[in-house]
Amino acid sequence: MGHGALMNSFEQELSERLVAHQRQGLLRQLRRVDSPQSARIQLDGRVLTNFSSNDYLGLAGHPVLKQAAMAAVEQFGAGAGASRLICGNLGVYQDLEEVLASFKGTQAALSFSTGYAAALGTIGALAGPDDVLVLDKLVHASVIDAARLSGAVLRIFRHNDLNHLEHHLKWGRARVEAAGPGHTHKGRILIVTESVFSMDGDHAPLREIAGLKERYGAWLMVDEAHATGLYGANRRGLTEQEGIASQTEIQMGTLGKAAGASGGYICGSRTLIDYLVNKARSFVFSTAPVPAAAAAAAAGIRLIASAEGEERRKYLWSLVSKITPTQVRSTSPSAIIPIQIGDETKAVESSEKLLQNGIFIPAIRYPTVARGRARLRMTVTASHTPQDVDALDQALAELQLPTS
Ligand SMILES: *Cc1c(COP(=O)(O)O)cnc(C)c1O
Repeated sequence: MGHGALMNSFEQELSERLVAHQRQGLLRQLRRVDSPQSARIQLDGRVLTNFSSNDYLGLAGHPVLKQAAMAAVEQFGAGAGASRLICGNLGVYQDLEEVLASFKGTQAALSFSTGYAAALGTIGALAGPDDVLVLDKLVHASVIDAARLSGAVLRIFRHNDLNHLEHHLKWGRARVEAAGPGHTHKGRILIVTESVFSMDGDHAPLREIAGLKERYGAWLMVDEAHATGLYGANRRGLTEQEGIASQTEIQMGTLGKAAGASGGYICGSRTLIDYLVNKARSFVFSTAPVPAAAAAAAAGIRLIASAEGEERRKYLWSLVSKITPTQVRSTSPSAIIPIQIGDETKAVESSEKLLQNGIFIPAIRYPTVARGRARLRMTVTASHTPQDVDALDQALAELQLPTS
C-alpha cells in the first residue's frame, strides 16, 4: 500500500469518527472572534452580547492589565527563552508570585503556564502509586487527567456527598496503613475538590470537608478557579470565606478567569513551593510563559486586591441578583448560571436561537458534563450593564425553556 492510500484511510477513519460525534450532537467547532473579550464580542462578523466568558470582573481588557503586559514586553521581550530552572526565571514571575502569596496570605506561591499545568504538575508531584486520591465526581478535567497520570489509587465521591467522601476516607486510611515496609514513603490520602464548581456554579461544603480531612489525616487541595477574586473578605476565594484556608495544604487557581490574564498558580507553604519547583514536571520541563502573561496576571491580582476589585465584585453580585430567580438553580451566589436542557442536540439548538437574538451562550455538552446533562452555561461579568441582563432575561423568556 502506497503512502497516499495510507493517508486516505487515516483521513477516512477520522472523518467517520467525527460524523459519529456529530450524530450525538457533540461536534465542536471554533468560531472566530475579532474583538477583545468583553460584554460584547464580534463573532463571525456579528456583534453579540457575550454571556460565555469567565472574565468575571471584566479585567481581560482593562487598561491597567494591558499596560502591564506592554511594559513587560518592553523590558523582557516577547519570549522567556527556556524553562525557569534553566535560564528563564525572569523577574516578572517572581513579582507575580510575591503578589499572589501576599494576596492569598500564604508563605509562598508558584505560577504555571496554565491552571491545567498547575493541576498536572502538582498532583503528580504529591501522589503516586502508594497514595490514594479522593476526588469529587465533578472536578475539572485537569484534575482528573492529573489523577490518572499520577498512578495513585483513585476514589471518586458523589458530588458534594460527605457520607460518600467519608466512606472513601475510611477505606483509604485502612489501605495506606496496610501498605507498610517496602514502600518509599508512607502512603497518603489527598482530597481534591473545586470550591465553586465550573459547570454548575454550586459550592463545595468546604468546612465539613476540612473537618473530615483532619479526622482521617488526609491532605486537602482546593481548586479555586471560579472563586478567586469573588469570595471572602479579601476576595481570596471560598476557602477564605469558609475559614478553612489554613487547613488547605494546597490552594490552586487560574490566572485566566477573574484575574483577566493567563496562567495557573499554587499557593501554600514555602516547603510546598520548594518541593514543586523540584518535582512538578509541568513546571520543570516546560518553557516559562511569555513575560506579558505574568505581568498582566500580577496586575490583575493587584486590581482584585484593590478597592476597585471590591467595587467590581459588588457590582457583579448586584447583576447576578437581578437575573430572574427561576433561572437560578443554585442557591449559593454564583456568576455561573446553568440552564439545564439535557439533550445535546436541543442544547445546541437553544444556543443557536439565542445567537439569532444577539446573545451568545454556549451549549455545554459531554465530555465537559455527563451525557444527557447538556446545558446552556451563562456567566455574568462586571463588564455587563443592567440593560444587558434585561436583554438576557427577555431572550431566555422567548426561548420558552421548561422551568425545572
Ligand atoms: C479553567 C479551569 C482550570 C484550568 O485553568 P486554565 O488556566 O484554563 O488551564 C482548572 N480548574 C477549573 C475548575 C477550571 O475551571
